[in-house]
Amino acid sequence: MTGLNPAVSLTNNTGYGNRAFVYEVKGLSQNLETDRLGFPIRRSGSIFITVAYDRMNDEMRRISRLGGKIVNITPLNEFTAPVPAAAVSQPAPQEVKASQPKAEKHEVKVPVNLYKPKNPYIGKCLDNYELVAEGGSGTVRHLTFDLSEGNLHYLEGQSIGIIPPGQDKDGKPHKLRLYSIASTRHGDCLDDKTVSLCVRQLEYKNEQGETVYGVCSTHLCNLEVGADVAITGPVGKEMLLPADEDATIIMLATGTGIAPFRAFLWRMFKEREQNPDYQFKGLAWLVFGIPFTANILYKEELEKIAQEFPENFRLTYAISREQEAATGGKMYVQSRVSEYADELFEMIQKPSTHVYMCGLKGMEPPISETFTQEAEKRGLKWDEMRKQMKKEERWHVEVY
Ligand SMILES: Cc1cc2nc3c(=O)[nH]c(=O)nc-3n(C[C@H](O)[C@H](O)[C@H](O)COP(=O)(O)OP(=O)(O)OC[C@H]3O[C@@H](n4cnc5c(N)ncnc54)[C@H](O)[C@@H]3O)c2cc1C
Repeated sequence: MTGLNPAVSLTNNTGYGNRAFVYEVKGLSQNLETDRLGFPIRRSGSIFITVAYDRMNDEMRRISRLGGKIVNITPLNEFTAPVPAAAVSQPAPQEVKASQPKAEKHEVKVPVNLYKPKNPYIGKCLDNYELVAEGGSGTVRHLTFDLSEGNLHYLEGQSIGIIPPGQDKDGKPHKLRLYSIASTRHGDCLDDKTVSLCVRQLEYKNEQGETVYGVCSTHLCNLEVGADVAITGPVGKEMLLPADEDATIIMLATGTGIAPFRAFLWRMFKEREQNPDYQFKGLAWLVFGIPFTANILYKEELEKIAQEFPENFRLTYAISREQEAATGGKMYVQSRVSEYADELFEMIQKPSTHVYMCGLKGMEPPISETFTQEAEKRGLKWDEMRKQMKKEERWHVEVY
């Protein structure tokens, strides 16, 4: 919630359960005693209105007609009602049903689709800098957006949608593109009010030999600080980090596939103070595939973590244009997986081990092939093992 301090209480007697949201509205006429649903809503400055999911758009229009401005939208089950002022006749605190705290140790509610394409969150770009060093290939930018005006929050491993401005070749508004979130839930400014991405500008040659630049990735990579960006989401439950502080987390990344793992590693090692309920003590192993040393995204920070936490973080690069695999070919992530196949396979048989894969689509088949061979050596069937791991939420793949 914002720093506003309205002493308003809210009872959850809508019957809408999780399918309702609380709008925090400013600028509405002070003679409103209750909202349409009969809730006490009026206090100095802000008004809180409970809205059923399927009435959200109508309610937004109604508020706007009445001259109000929505400054926050919170799912009802995450809304923490401010304590009522003693002088005001309000339900007793025990009647205030504001649901469970946001981050219980082993059960965190996963926010999904807080902002949809028809009504995206408009954030401002706070930062946009190059991640590829001199001599590397392509353009990859780290971008940070301000979220302070709304209620867009997320967990490590989720993605957001970006809607590029303008229209497609059929004259329709561009569709959203998904990007893995590269920051932790606290954001790069540690105030829970930003989200960061790691975006590669898509560039390829078409059949006529002309260079083509991707619509959305180019929009993002060229975004000026201070410019608006239309954001949807968050989405995704595939790549969430387990609450187990002793887990073994194997991360296989190519290129911008590092994004969710940056969020994981920052949460594990750099933001320990911000997460008293998550003090990682397990083993995190990142195998990171890139073409050149200059393309190692977040290189300094990754190496610093490896230096500071040698017992808990292992960092292995696969630099395809500079290193040679044992078999003589280029060194890809899958080559490293083959190199450490025995060790990795022993690890993944432990129930506390999670495997995450993120980045280029092509990386999964050869990795599966390696694990198939390792399984066979042990008289096991990889297909069945993988299915079981998936069922146990220990096998996580997000490739694009
Ligand atoms: C879950 C998820 C997470 C993602 N996370 C990230 C991320 O963290 N960082 C990131 O940079 N991207 C990420 N992506 C990819 C991102 O969503 C976009 O697809 C990407 O940025 C390209 O979008 P664009 O608008 O720039 O390209 P578009 O203008 O949409 O162009 C893409 C189209 O170009 C064509 N094309 C592409 N390459 C070639 C080629 N070599 N030859 C011929 N035609 C080609 C294809 O038709 C393709 O559909 C993610 C995707 C998903 C699904």
